[in-house]
Amino acid sequence: MSNLVFKNVRHSYSRAYSVDIDYLEVGSGKLVCLLGPSGCGKSTTLRLAAGLESPMEGEILINGEVMANDDIFVGPEDRRVGLVFQDYALFPHLTVRNNVSFGLTHLSGSEAKARALQILDTVGMKDAADKYPHMLSGGEQQRVALARALAPNPRLILMDEPFSGLDVVLRNRVRDETQALLKEMGTTVLMVTHDPEEAMRMADEIVLMQNGQVIQQGTAGELYTNPVNEFVASFLGDVNRVPAEKTDNGLKTELGTAPIPAGLDDRIVSEILVRPEAIRFLPVIDTTQPTGEVVLSRNLGAFCLVDVQLPSGFRVTARVATVNQPEVGTKCSLSLNLTQVFVFPATSNGEKTDKPV
Ligand code: ADP
Ligand code: MG
Repeated sequence: MSNLVFKNVRHSYSRAYSVDIDYLEVGSGKLVCLLGPSGCGKSTTLRLAAGLESPMEGEILINGEVMANDDIFVGPEDRRVGLVFQDYALFPHLTVRNNVSFGLTHLSGSEAKARALQILDTVGMKDAADKYPHMLSGGEQQRVALARALAPNPRLILMDEPFSGLDVVLRNRVRDETQALLKEMGTTVLMVTHDPEEAMRMADEIVLMQNGQVIQQGTAGELYTNPVNEFVASFLGDVNRVPAEKTDNGLKTELGTAPIPAGLDDRIVSEILVRPEAIRFLPVIDTTQPTGEVVLSRNLGAFCLVDVQLPSGFRVTARVATVNQPEVGTKCSLSLNLTQVFVFPATSNGEKTDKPV
């Protein structure tokens, strides 16, 4: 088992840094997801780890061995990493078995064949060994691509959006199977995705990137419930931005008063961020709570998103169990779960800071 470390790694294609990472670690045996919007530097980070790009500054280590720094550059073929890309990049003219044994140049022909069959068996594709890629479904091709990456016994697996080519129904199953397999093998994995649900579903840890930088690294729960800034809070899930006024008693909003977080001092707060599930929907009027009227009610299957207009005209979105879906026009009360409220102060000139409190 191996770990991967980036220290002060900078990389640029032109002028601006495409990757600007002070520190990133993928622990041994961990499945870490690089998550972030398109163009934030996820693929470049993966390519730097693979040796397909070379950093302008900094150091990349695998298992404590330097792969790249000012003096050293270990090429991709010598890093012992396995790569899985979005399009799988299987050779169309080779059978499944030959696709998998292709990179096993250090083994004799018969050894490579045996190893290919063994790893195909592990991913449940042994029976397809003599087929060609075009004869397989997307999910099966994905498993072959994974088998090919795993066959040489790499120190780590690097995957770039590996499930984005699969249809929605298949995707969750292949995700779960792939995760179970990688966990069973104890492989260290760095996987790129732009999909927060995929990252939360699969990752031991998520590394959220923005503009080439790591904004927060932690478990899905940590990022979801303790985001370091607004970007993290809103990237991982929906948030309501509720106008707030700082008073001696707390942060006063139309939904109720939230406590002032420690360390806020005299910094300005103009809004609080509230997840839809932090707003409890009461279908009967409770006069001790804020009241409003349902203006939009969407059934998303597992739950509903319900927009409620408050007396001021401000609208908030609450998450409601499907069995309790209200009709538009329903008068209701709302209560706020204050543990799921985020406060990010503005600076003295009113601009947002990225500093949590
Ligand atoms: P992501 O995978 O998160 O979408 P990338 O790592 O592909 O992001 O890209 C990071 C930044 O680098 C983007 O601004 C992108 O336009 C730029 N970029 C990526 N590849 C190249 C390239 N080969 N040449 C020039 N710019 C590139
Ligand atoms: Mg990419």
